[in-house]
Amino acid sequence: MDDCIFCKIVRGEIPAAKVYEDTEVLAFLDITPVNPGHVLVVPKAHFEILQAIPDPILSKLIVVVKKIAGGIRKATRAEGINIGMNNGAAAGQEVPHAHIHVMPRFKDDGYKLWHGTTYPQGEMEETAKKILAALKYSPSGQAPRK
Ligand code: 5GP
Ligand code: ZN
Repeated sequence: MDDCIFCKIVRGEIPAAKVYEDTEVLAFLDITPVNPGHVLVVPKAHFEILQAIPDPILSKLIVVVKKIAGGIRKATRAEGINIGMNNGAAAGQEVPHAHIHVMPRFKDDGYKLWHGTTYPQGEMEETAKKILAALKYSPSGQAPRK
């Protein structure tokens, strides 16, 4: 992908503060961090969103995320770590090269990443049914939590 900013970082055409690299995965500091030490973990090959990443690469990616989370915690003395991924513009994805955010958090840093809503009567069960159907998955018989 010629114009992709993260592909350019992978190819070394633009600089980045790299913190991890192997044959398939690269991790580097986000240029506008939630807190200092905020890392982006990316597949070196260009895939736009999570669902496009082949499972073997995704498996490697999540293991690197775990490793990086431990490193960030030690290095920044973070009290917690958020792992996040924006998939699609509607979800806030600005760079269309799949990436996982690993973000150091502190009790009083003032961030609130999301707030919850509620389901109208019966809609939680309906929604679970639709997703189960889409997954072609048989439920275990357990009712969704209210
Ligand atoms: P998204 O909103 O797509 O999930 O997040 C994209 C992230 O990439 C943003 O947090 C942004 O700060 C970061 N970013 C955008 N351009 C660059 C860049 O050139 N270098 C680095 N290191 N991070 C970037
Ligand atoms: Zn790319």
